Amino acid sequence: MIIPFLDFTIMHREIKTQIMQAIEDVYDSNWYIMGGRLDEFEKSYAILHKVKQAVGVSNGLDALFLSLKALDIQEGDEVIIPSNTYIATALAVSYLKAKPVFVEPCSETYNINPTLIKDAITLKTKAIIPVHLYGQACQMEEIIQLADRYSLKIIEDNAQSHLATFKGKITGSWGHANATSFYPGKNLGALGDGGAVTTDDPTVAEKIRVLRNYGSRVKYKNEIIGHNMRLDELQAAVLSVKIKFLNEWTIQRQKLAELYFTELSGVGDIILPKIHQDATHVFHLFVIRTKYRNRLQDFLLEAGIGCLIHYPIPPHLQNAYQFLGYKTGDFPIAEELADTSLSLPIWPGMKKEDIEYVASKIKSFYSKQ
Ligand SMILES: *Cc1c(COP(=O)(O)O)cnc(C)c1O
Repeated sequence: MIIPFLDFTIMHREIKTQIMQAIEDVYDSNWYIMGGRLDEFEKSYAILHKVKQAVGVSNGLDALFLSLKALDIQEGDEVIIPSNTYIATALAVSYLKAKPVFVEPCSETYNINPTLIKDAITLKTKAIIPVHLYGQACQMEEIIQLADRYSLKIIEDNAQSHLATFKGKITGSWGHANATSFYPGKNLGALGDGGAVTTDDPTVAEKIRVLRNYGSRVKYKNEIIGHNMRLDELQAAVLSVKIKFLNEWTIQRQKLAELYFTELSGVGDIILPKIHQDATHVFHLFVIRTKYRNRLQDFLLEAGIGCLIHYPIPPHLQNAYQFLGYKTGDFPIAEELADTSLSLPIWPGMKKEDIEYVASKIKSFYSKQ
């Protein structure tokens, strides 16, 4: 039995007719960039998040970058980000020659620890990027309170957490500008690259609309130095079909996660995900922890089970960030997570038997120790 880490086959089979029709419509329309499909998708994405505006952009990294830029983050500013995030969060800060300042996550939820943020705030701090890692919403209330007190901007990194909530309020609706990704493997994925910014501030939305399109509102009139960071019509049309299934797919992920919880509780030294009482988790990834991580991963790969590490090297230890001068031991929680985390397969269309198979292999790994 082979269980891939991620398999689109079943998900995509279900919607193939609708997707092909959407693609054909774009094909026949003669209009491929900045048209009606983008408008339509932006409207439905904004409604889903209960925000005033959504702006489609080229990918998640650009969504973060444009959010920071529209909120006026500048060279020398400090931006607080979690020490255990995907590199994109840090890169977006670096694009503006601002400085990423790392704050450790809670060792339970793996999301940025609100009580540690305060110590990282200096006179140069301008913003916080909470990352709803693996699909669980961050403790947004405490983060917002701090941001208000110190007049900081909040930019949510919502790339992994479509439809997650904290105290019933959806992620992507809390910050001043919130970035998401439609990378194919994300919970809402395009058939290529894509991203969006959600915001309740019409001025911020307008700035991003201008920035993403060559700094231009009227063709061949360039108001500012802009970028080419647009979401194209084909991806927008595909996303408009897929967004209708997002709720159903999210429930499927949560049910599969429930099965993992039942099957794996008390097995070996496995630490299962913990969900904060006020948060929901949409299980973009199902991440377990064990001190035998590398051996378990090899064992599962040999058994035909796809499993990956998110993420093996935290940003502060990446070569790209050597210039910040960090060393091993500076962010022990992030480093421990990098050494012990293992992501198991979870995707809409996966069967109960698939989860049981993965769990049985994990149990046989431990019975051999
Ligand atoms: C995927 C991801 C991004 C970047 O999205 P891209 O579309 O790949 O640029 C940013 N942050 C997090 C947490 C992600 O998982």
